Amino acid sequence: MSNKDQIQRFMFDQLGARGQLVGLQESYQEAVSNHDYPAAIQQLLGEFMTAAALLSTTIKFDGSLTLQAQGDGELSLIMAECRHNQEVRGVARWEGEQLPSSADFKALLGNGRMAVTITPDKGQRYQGIISLEGDSIANCLENYFQQSEQLQTRVWLTTEPGHSASGLLIQVLPQAQEAVQDVDGWDRICQLSDTLSNEELSRLQNEDILHRLYHEEVVRVFPASDVQFKCSCSAYRTLQAIVSMGKEEMEEIFSEQPQITVRCEFCNSGYEVTQDDINEYLSDNGNNGSHTLH
Ligand SMILES: [Zn+2]
Repeated sequence: MSNKDQIQRFMFDQLGARGQLVGLQESYQEAVSNHDYPAAIQQLLGEFMTAAALLSTTIKFDGSLTLQAQGDGELSLIMAECRHNQEVRGVARWEGEQLPSSADFKALLGNGRMAVTITPDKGQRYQGIISLEGDSIANCLENYFQQSEQLQTRVWLTTEPGHSASGLLIQVLPQAQEAVQDVDGWDRICQLSDTLSNEELSRLQNEDILHRLYHEEVVRVFPASDVQFKCSCSAYRTLQAIVSMGKEEMEEIFSEQPQITVRCEFCNSGYEVTQDDINEYLSDNGNNGSHTLH
């Protein structure tokens, strides 16, 4: 039985540490199949989607986690989103003239910034900035956890471009370290995890990876949860986005054409919007369009 498109959580109770394995296959393939990305961008997008799925298990409410990097290079934007129920989507904007020779994301991004945003369905949005000082996305995430939450964390990410994306995260638990008697335990599981090859991380079943790495450790394994590609776009959200541009921009758009087609960057769905749709939306929402909605 395949365990792809799953998140597998596990715990080292005696060591005060936790771990997660993520494998994305159909969910990843669906995200890249909507676009004509070069292999290097497919690889980075796989890493972003895996990282977003790994981080999403920290969401304790209904909402989404977005991992996003923007820059002034050929890759102007790369972003992946995972909801609390493990619905993932991702997109990259790449406008290079030549195929990128490597998936060095800092070279592709240029002067960039990376952020993690947690957006509850109800309530305040939280954003944390991830320093681009690491030499890989995994390394940047490790530094982020160390700096923002003082949690020692190790992350491994690997992508087979166009096919699958996989990741492993291990992390010390907050406040658990004082009770831990096996003081070498953390270093030991880090060294063990380092022996996992990218190919093994991509190809092996979760239970085989856990056995291969930690068969001499005590590991408590939780039931896996399924991951699927799902886009949160809709006709209603498209209307919201157009209205939020403001009255002047809307008038300009519809003075040139009776209707516009808005295409979702994530899933390629198209939405036809007319002036009548906008008017209906505005009257339903008790607004005559005289001021900008946010
Ligand atoms: Zn969509």
